[in-house]
Amino acid sequence: RAAGAASGATAFKVDAPNVRYTGDAIESDYTYDTTIVSRDAESGSLKAKPAKVGYRFRTKTGVGRVGLMLVGWGGNNGSTVTASILANKKGISWETRKGRQEPNYFGSLMMASTVKLGVDEDLKDVYVPFNQVVPMVHPNDVVIGGWDISSLSIGDAMRRAQVLPVDLQRQVYDELHQLKPLPSVYYPDFIAANQEARADNTIGGTKQEQLDRLRQDIRDFKQANSLDRVVVMWTANTERYADILPGVNDTADNLLQAIASGHSEVSPSTLFAVASILEGAPFVNGSPQNTLVPGAIALAERERSFVGGDDFKSGQTKIKSVLAEFLVNAGIKPLAITSYNHLGNNDGHNLSAPAQFRSKEISKSSVVDDMVAANRLLYAKGEHPDHTIVIKYVPSVGDSKRALDEYVSEIFMGGLNTISIYNTCEDSLLASPLIIDLFMMTELMTRVSYRTDADADWVPFHSVLSILSYMLKAPVVPPNTPVVNALAKQRMAMENILRAFVGLPPNNEMLLEHKAF
Ligand code: NAD
Repeated sequence: RAAGAASGATAFKVDAPNVRYTGDAIESDYTYDTTIVSRDAESGSLKAKPAKVGYRFRTKTGVGRVGLMLVGWGGNNGSTVTASILANKKGISWETRKGRQEPNYFGSLMMASTVKLGVDEDLKDVYVPFNQVVPMVHPNDVVIGGWDISSLSIGDAMRRAQVLPVDLQRQVYDELHQLKPLPSVYYPDFIAANQEARADNTIGGTKQEQLDRLRQDIRDFKQANSLDRVVVMWTANTERYADILPGVNDTADNLLQAIASGHSEVSPSTLFAVASILEGAPFVNGSPQNTLVPGAIALAERERSFVGGDDFKSGQTKIKSVLAEFLVNAGIKPLAITSYNHLGNNDGHNLSAPAQFRSKEISKSSVVDDMVAANRLLYAKGEHPDHTIVIKYVPSVGDSKRALDEYVSEIFMGGLNTISIYNTCEDSLLASPLIIDLFMMTELMTRVSYRTDADADWVPFHSVLSILSYMLKAPVVPPNTPVVNALAKQRMAMENILRAFVGLPPNNEMLLEHKAF
């Protein structure tokens, strides 16, 4: 078993009066330390005050049986993640030119990275697998299903994708050929016209009937596989943006009414989001379009259901969210970030249409905003580096996406520094572990509740799961809360929130124990 654990396994127990292991949960009493800053109205001087907020967290330990329903199951990502989980689960290895390759979960933060737990009696660091800080579902135990507008079995979809090595495909084909995607909702207006030939597996009827059908699909999948919970994830084609129209998709009731009256501005992805919300199934949007319109977020809040998005952060943008943070935090001023991509898979084909490219351009472009806004020494208010994004479709490179980035920055005394990056990304092999991480983290959040002194009872976290930001290019966050794009901060947030669930203080790099005489 990769990372050597079953669903729900943890690497340690906490020995502290503020942590309790009850029969079915871990409860922690936790003090959140923060700093409140006030500004004197007249002099403008700042005053900083340490503050403490008391939280109690409760994490249910029983993971149960969990399902993942992918929209776009027959795509490159959908078929790759399904085949790869099967290979891991069955321990299927395959021949390569260099010898035998074992399956693994490399690229998954949850499955292949570690968290520092603390130091032992010799002051040596002790690390544990990320997925064993609190009980999490193991991907080998997930039941996968889903929808696609293309009727190919997942076995044939895997062959069409041309991502995984042939000797692996050969060994998993028969089992994957048994898996057939459910028919899906297809509105040609939302994805590129060049996708039409794939659409031979679609649901007819009115929008309301389609919504009811998707809800029934989720219920049926849950029942047929005896599942306790299902997570739904959009890994289908990038859609164009939906217009945000007053009276249509601005409030929960208007959105439900727009579906009932068959309004043309409700996209397939929003229909899936609404179906999931109404079924209490968390919904995550892995593509860039604005699936989570204000009405969908309001509906999720009202139903106390979870949503997350947008757009898997797999390659170029992930690097950007590291490099821009490094530059700005080093006191170096990026003046221009210029990015070219070319790719040859079906995603690239779809993105070659202007409206779908525009969705991607938007989700890729906001990634340095928080870092720039945090440094008033380098940037005046409203000032921003030039940021250009180009994407071209080059069929012969297939799933092997190329990203070329140039960062031009101003350094000491008006000098210039230029960094060029050439990044060859195996697109679906980078995205598949993100699907796994989003699924595992989302599933965990369905089992966690908290209370502060102000809460009369245990409550779930906010419906919009900003904790997923690390895996997403344009993180959706609760209304009026900050978006964090910087990768290191995003990881730190996840790591320390998980530690809080088991009553441990946040990790910091002070290493005071090593600095004394
Ligand atoms: P893909 O084109 O291979 O797969 C998409 C699948 O969705 C296809 O099988 C298509 O038939 C299906 N589909 C389209 N509309 C549908 C609908 N309404 N209902 C159900 N199925 C539908 O693309 P991919 O490479 O798997 O990428 C999937 C999505 O993930 C794209 O939107 C892409 O932009 C996004 N994404 C991918 C990466 C990455 O691969 N590294 C990174 C970020 C985002």
